[in-house]
Amino acid sequence: MPEFKGDPPHYWAIIDALPFAVLLKDTAKPDIFANTQALKLLNKTDGSFVLSLNDIRHIPLADPTTKASLSLAQNPLLMALSGSIMNRSVLFEHSGSIVQLYATNVQLSFTLSNSALIVLTPESSVSQHELKYLALNDDISELQEALAFDKLMSLISAELINVQPEQLDTHIEDALTALGEFCHADRSYVFLFNEQMTTMSNTHEWVRDGISSHKAHLQNMPESSQPYIWQILKSEHIFAVPDINQLPDEASLEKQEFIREDIQSVLCTAMFSEGQLLGFVGCDMVARKRNWTASDIRRVKLVGNMIANTIQNVNYRLSLQQVQDELLKANLELKELAARDGLTGIANRRQYDEVVLQEMHRCARAEAPLCLMLIDIDHFKAFNDNYGHLAGDDALKRVADCLQQQLKRQGELVARYGGEEFAVILPHCTPDEAPLIAERLRLSVQELEIPHKHSPWQSLTISIGYCQLTPDKSISSTSLLRKADAALYQAKAAGRNQVQGTHQ
Ligand code: GH3
Ligand code: MG
Ligand code: MG
Repeated sequence: MPEFKGDPPHYWAIIDALPFAVLLKDTAKPDIFANTQALKLLNKTDGSFVLSLNDIRHIPLADPTTKASLSLAQNPLLMALSGSIMNRSVLFEHSGSIVQLYATNVQLSFTLSNSALIVLTPESSVSQHELKYLALNDDISELQEALAFDKLMSLISAELINVQPEQLDTHIEDALTALGEFCHADRSYVFLFNEQMTTMSNTHEWVRDGISSHKAHLQNMPESSQPYIWQILKSEHIFAVPDINQLPDEASLEKQEFIREDIQSVLCTAMFSEGQLLGFVGCDMVARKRNWTASDIRRVKLVGNMIANTIQNVNYRLSLQQVQDELLKANLELKELAARDGLTGIANRRQYDEVVLQEMHRCARAEAPLCLMLIDIDHFKAFNDNYGHLAGDDALKRVADCLQQQLKRQGELVARYGGEEFAVILPHCTPDEAPLIAERLRLSVQELEIPHKHSPWQSLTISIGYCQLTPDKSISSTSLLRKADAALYQAKAAGRNQVQGTHQ
């Protein structure tokens, strides 16, 4: 048996061994388990036994009578998984051919009171022409229907709790489908007000097959175009009209619009978020009139609340995400700033301390060489005394830039170690390369030709001491630095503007 990602019930082994496809769901939990036969049937090969509501929704099922694919509210698997009793045949597309399945569900009251077991048994592998009509028991009482609606809603709302902003529209449309189907309506929709509450737009819609959509025309409508419905929704929160001919005279603009859309009956409920009117949810009857029932009103209110809460929730999460992103960015900038030297803009001592340890470990692990160079500007006190501190600062910046320009290989770091001293870390630098690179650095600074009267070379120069070795556990970053410093001391003692180094 493959490993479970979810938490299957203890009797799962028995269900997995059954010779027919089984989907199992504890109504109190989101996971849907599929046994081996069900996974085969659904062509699921990713090793997971746990399906989501979305997986179920995308199983290609069709009505045996009409051959039409089943809508959300008619989907027997969804209905059954939400706990409704179901016994019906469905068409199922499997590996290119259409199979007729008999689907039934069993309440597992003997083991776990809340579980629903759905059994799918392939009846025959027949061509589409040979499919015979199977009468369906459509005679559901109002009570059963109310129960079915509530269960479907609880399934949809469970998904809405953690909905990602990009899935929001799909879930709202699912809720509208359920609302439309259960209210026997021809359209169901959401309208949202703009932030200033001056216009409203039709943002989501479900329409029954054969019914026209008017969503495209119902965008950015000002209050003055529908003043009556606007006022009723604000004051009474519900707008229930069984027959649009009974609308009062002050609703003449609304009536015109309803006639234009062939609406006979309409039912809308206001959506609030934190006491603020967000918009409304509604249903239209086109083919015939409907005396809206208490259940219809309850349903439209429920869907309205659900959508309003979800929109609010998504907005909260989006603004939290935004704050978090800003904080992360500010944090990164601070970190970046903390690693830079204020005067020269190159890495500072703190950054050097961090990187030298990191690179020593990295090279030690790879048994690769490394070189540390210490660089000190020659006769810089005299430079400052002669040209002033500001000119000294400027010279420091130019030297820093120059060194940085020379060292661009991955992992190389130039840091201002302090005062007029720089440290250079060169991972993977071999014994042959070290003196060549040091010499190149020394020359590049001399070639800046920064005038320095009190220098034997008449321009600003640097002295370099380096230590090149292959790091191991016996060498600390301090001892590496000490060796480079000793070499620098030698370079100074031997006359400055030169390179001295040690190799191990
Ligand atoms: P040596 O060739 O032996 O290195 O001689 P030196 O004069 O460079 O060394 P010393 O340590 O005597 O002087 C270093 C000078 O660097 C003294 C200080 O004024 C200068 N200095 C250190 N930091 C800065 C800085 O941020 N800006 C400026 N303008 N000068 C600085
Ligand atoms: Mg110095
Ligand atoms: Mg100096």
